Amino acid sequence: MNSKLMFKTLSLLLSAVLVWGCVADIVPATGDRRYLGFTWQQETEIGKQASKEVEALFGIYRDPKVERYVTEVGNRVLATSHLRRPGIDEQIRKTPITFGVLDSPIINAMALPGGYIYVTRGMLAHLNNEDQLATVLAHEIGHVAARHAARQAWQQQLGQGLLLGGAILSQGLGLPAQDILNLGNMAAQLIFLRYSREDELEADKLGVEYSSAAGYDPREVIPFFQTLGRIQEKEGQGMPSFLATHPNPGDRIQRIRELTAGQPRHERPLADSRYLNAIEGLVLGEDPRQGFVEGNVFYHPDLRLRFPVPRGFKVINQPTQVVMVEGQNRAVLGFASAREKSLEAAVARFLKQPGLRVIERESMRSKGLPAFVTVADAQMQSGQVVRIMAYFVEYRGTVYHFVGYTAPQTFNVFRNVFLQTMQGFGEVQDPRILNRQPIRIALESVTRKAPFRDWIPRNLPAPLTPEDVAILNQVEINQEIGPGRILKVPAAR
Ligand SMILES: [Zn+2]
Repeated sequence: MNSKLMFKTLSLLLSAVLVWGCVADIVPATGDRRYLGFTWQQETEIGKQASKEVEALFGIYRDPKVERYVTEVGNRVLATSHLRRPGIDEQIRKTPITFGVLDSPIINAMALPGGYIYVTRGMLAHLNNEDQLATVLAHEIGHVAARHAARQAWQQQLGQGLLLGGAILSQGLGLPAQDILNLGNMAAQLIFLRYSREDELEADKLGVEYSSAAGYDPREVIPFFQTLGRIQEKEGQGMPSFLATHPNPGDRIQRIRELTAGQPRHERPLADSRYLNAIEGLVLGEDPRQGFVEGNVFYHPDLRLRFPVPRGFKVINQPTQVVMVEGQNRAVLGFASAREKSLEAAVARFLKQPGLRVIERESMRSKGLPAFVTVADAQMQSGQVVRIMAYFVEYRGTVYHFVGYTAPQTFNVFRNVFLQTMQGFGEVQDPRILNRQPIRIALESVTRKAPFRDWIPRNLPAPLTPEDVAILNQVEINQEIGPGRILKVPAAR
């Protein structure tokens, strides 16, 4: 959760804009007129809406140095792309393309339609030089220029039905899991959209073309693809990643070799050090400042709060909410801040929601904090009735709320489970928790020839292993490293 908790705004999608139909429109990357699911204007509208959802889901990594650098490299490649070439539709040429860094440790890059391009900080941590970043961004620009999302929408009927479905769902009660279910809608469809193999090949071709034209060497990306294979062997990363949404790295290496055959090697002055200097200090892995679970307790150091996590519940920590889901998906418990400033106002708004039948309600004090609990039946959009327990507590000038829900017949199983977490909410005073800092990337210049393992810090911060550090640097543990090279080493403060 961000320390600046935003209440998730209901995303009313642009049903009026999304009139389903076929549109014959220009594809900038080929100049062809093709049947597409959306016009360019619709694409940019959808992209804008989806970008808000993506940013709410992952959070933006706010570091001006990193953001500026990614935008600068992105713009250099963009300038050589079809989106900016003379003769291209003025409307497309004038569309601003946004480059952003998502605050997520997973390794991914994505392009939303209409020109929203993201890389995760996990991706940035695993890249090693500017040529690699440029080639990754160029591939994503390729998806936009070839209008793959719109083509996909046309081919798969991914579009109106789905998007409207999302709009209907999100007008609901604001129950936490609904937001997760909502991930079945637009943002998820777009983030985890698997383009066809043909589209990926085309994006690689365009990516190689754009990054070469901008003076980069796309072959530099090959060692990164090689390390992706090693990452694949590690434990699952929770969310669908670059590997899940892109073709096999081995095939892409082959493809890039073919596409660059005969191309002269570029001089790459400073390409490595410039990149590494830009990402020095980058957060590596999970960021405990945004909340973490330790010993079955969720802690948020910046908000100075804690609550116990029910045994057997999986925790999904998003920028706007924390969602806990029971192992068999029989119950969901969400936690967020209310937008109201007072307990009374937050409770009043909650109780006013249509479709809610209140069974119990009670004001109380818990650990000295003013609180309110209610049990109610609520009708979901699907028509299904769920029994919910909602709990509001005022703490340090903010109203927080928990909403737990399950089927009416299993409510008694979870009643005390919900209550224990809700009433376990309280202040954190332990400085060990309050001062917890993320692991960050530090740089180290190699001064002598030695195997890589010699450069791995002896006391690696948990949960990092020597293999992780080798992967981070795109080397093998026993590989000889010579002077002049700069290495990324994890540093705990
Ligand atoms: Zn792709």
